Amino acid sequence: MVRIGRQLHAATFKLRQARVVARAMKSRYHPILAQIVPMRRCNLTCSYCSEFDDTSKPVPLETMLRRIDRLADLGTTVITISGGEPLLHPQLERIIREIRRRGSIATLISNGYLLTPARIQSLNDAGLDQLQISIDNVQPDSVSKKSLKVLDKKLEWLADYAAFEVNINSVMGTSARPEDALVVARRGRELRFETTIGIVHDNQGQLRPLSELECRIYQELSKIASRSFASFAYYNQFQKNLILAKPNHWSCRAGSRYLYICEYGLVHYCSQQRGHPGIPLEQYSTKNLEHEYRTEKSCAPLCTISCVHQVSMLDQFREKPRESLQSFFPRGSGHVPPAVVRALAWLFLPPEESTPRKLITQALTRAALWSMKLQG
Ligand code: SF4
Ligand code: SF4
Repeated sequence: MVRIGRQLHAATFKLRQARVVARAMKSRYHPILAQIVPMRRCNLTCSYCSEFDDTSKPVPLETMLRRIDRLADLGTTVITISGGEPLLHPQLERIIREIRRRGSIATLISNGYLLTPARIQSLNDAGLDQLQISIDNVQPDSVSKKSLKVLDKKLEWLADYAAFEVNINSVMGTSARPEDALVVARRGRELRFETTIGIVHDNQGQLRPLSELECRIYQELSKIASRSFASFAYYNQFQKNLILAKPNHWSCRAGSRYLYICEYGLVHYCSQQRGHPGIPLEQYSTKNLEHEYRTEKSCAPLCTISCVHQVSMLDQFREKPRESLQSFFPRGSGHVPPAVVRALAWLFLPPEESTPRKLITQALTRAALWSMKLQG
């Protein structure tokens, strides 16, 4: 039953993700992704982290529901619940239900410590779409207790009971034993989870250069991690420079396409740039979205905040599709876009003078619009 539920969810989740991308392509006047914090308190104390305390109370449910309503009214397509540790919030499932009820994708970032089979089932019932757990090392140490040894049983429970997608993020740069990241990623793949690679940042969201050994391990990791279109594009566009401590030239769309809503309900660019713009969510308007879309962020070149990179890549593609595909999959990188993307690019990004392609594209576009009309 769990396997059927997971397959069913995977199919509908892919469709809803495709819808997020389609909406992002159609218009830039809504946030693609917002991160909300229902609980700044954490049950761990990772020494590199600046996003937690050990005293704060959960944000009241009514307040969280109002924030979700506001985000939905702004047209937000994906809402990620983070913390602190969000599983400490006593009404987390109600928050997830509300995100789904308002039509957004609901994802969660957790350290996984509080997962049990019953809690996983209640996250299934609430409609969670995706859970991300970052694992820093194999054995707990003084820097981090987010360790495979402690979490492995939780991962097995997730493999057995979760209907939602699970992503294991191996973080480079947190452990004195960088080779641990390989062990973590291999275990994630063994349990058939999605796996990604994160690069540790300082408390301004900026790059902390990786050592030579870490760079080598990163290359190994990239062979194990999920090999999707998005992960290759992301690697070529951002990570290949970051692991060499080189700047990226990109437009950060934080404050517009990505919002970070802190526990006090203020909108910030991201968790590392609090106070900018620092406006209450209930006052945040499409004017603010428009203004921040264009605001240049001086922290952009060495930024390692991958979710903001990925959101901004969609706008880069929307504005300059052909050039973007070339920079996502440069010649000689050994990565080529999947056949379906090549076919779509051939059809929908034809050279001006190609009349036959233009005609096929127009016919397909008309057929798609006609079928959308039929579906209401
Ligand atoms: S578990 Fe996450 S929120 Fe908690 S201290 Fe560690 S990194 Fe920070
Ligand atoms: S570039 Fe954007 S996402 Fe990165 S630290 Fe600056 S404001 Fe945050």
